[in-house]
Amino acid sequence: MKTLNDFNFKDKKALIRVDFNVPLDANFSVTDATRISSAKPTIIKILEDGGSCIIMSHLGRPKGVQDQFSLKHITSKVEDIIGVETKFVSNSIGTEAEEAAANLKPGELLILENLRFHEEETKGDRDFAKQLSKLGDLYVNDAFGTAHRAHASTTIVAQFFPEKKCFGYLLEQEIKSIDKVLKSDDRPVLAILGGAKVSSKITVIENILDKVDDIIIGGGMAFTFVKAKGGTIGNSLVEDDKLEMALDILKQAEAKNVTIHIPTDSVIADDFTNNANTKACDITEIPEGWMGLDAGPDSRKQFHDIVMQSKTILWNGPLGVFEMENFANGTIALGNSIAEATKNGSFSLVGGGDSVAAVKRFGFDKKVSYVSTGGGAMLESLEGKTLPGIAAILD
Ligand code: AMP
Repeated sequence: MKTLNDFNFKDKKALIRVDFNVPLDANFSVTDATRISSAKPTIIKILEDGGSCIIMSHLGRPKGVQDQFSLKHITSKVEDIIGVETKFVSNSIGTEAEEAAANLKPGELLILENLRFHEEETKGDRDFAKQLSKLGDLYVNDAFGTAHRAHASTTIVAQFFPEKKCFGYLLEQEIKSIDKVLKSDDRPVLAILGGAKVSSKITVIENILDKVDDIIIGGGMAFTFVKAKGGTIGNSLVEDDKLEMALDILKQAEAKNVTIHIPTDSVIADDFTNNANTKACDITEIPEGWMGLDAGPDSRKQFHDIVMQSKTILWNGPLGVFEMENFANGTIALGNSIAEATKNGSFSLVGGGDSVAAVKRFGFDKKVSYVSTGGGAMLESLEGKTLPGIAAILD
């Protein structure tokens, strides 16, 4: 696996794919710059070597050229974070970009306009990728968030740099963190899967059954399992067409000696609002008109004990409707348990969409070993797929 440290960038122009798809407010100010900070070590290494950086990214999902999706809105934030003046070109390909890249001096930074202003980007167009490739001497991919897409700048462009392509530090760290879970010798290995739907995580569960010792199934997903086993779940979230599949997963787990832990109790509510009436009850005896919206106190204790005995922990998906304060306590308790296990030396990886939002909201992001920057890319990695953006560098 070729990484940044295999190259010296002195007098070289590095064409870097980053994920600067950051949220902006109504005044086009960056509201969360995590993705920019995450790419900083890669950019600094190249600049300190005596090279220059040509930064390419997408922002949002524009239809053609749309000013609100211009990367010009983020250049000053990049300057603040990297500490280097940045240049900007209003087209990612063509004469203007080529001249700006050619004139770039060691230590300088150039940001290209939103790649997705060209529909060829998401189509993985070879000619578009070739035009991008003219801008740099080496290609660096540091965008884990788009590594599962075979787009021109994430995958196709790599073929124009046969010996001169590598992972940036962020992508390297993401790959190593996932390997640390899926190929771990530090057992027991625990995967915690929560969130809304079983259907979106079936392939993940099937893939990790060969790699983990325990699985906690929480959140809305759990009710499909509870109902499949004959429990009464009231109006809780359920996927009735997945009951058979839930039973099959339980059977497969038993055959593979993997213990699946399902919550024993639930905080139930008589309405899907924060102000609903609530009580805790056995998860197999939820009355009609009530729905389970969080893990109950017994489940929290049960999950705490499992987390504390695990040496490697993967967490994907909240244990309840954490967006509402009254149903966030199960997720917070789990975050506390994982933070404590991490302090005791266990490795913990959090990733995939909403769990990242949850750990950030409750301040656990600094208390776990690693928080992944990729939602879809993380899930596809857990499904056992080789991501096209990663395969293109390994080729
Ligand atoms: P996912 O994107 O699949 O990880 O699902 C995350 C979403 O699941 C969050 O928005 C949670 O509010 C939701 N969720 C978690 N537990 C439940 C539950 N018991 N009932 C309904 N939604 C839930």
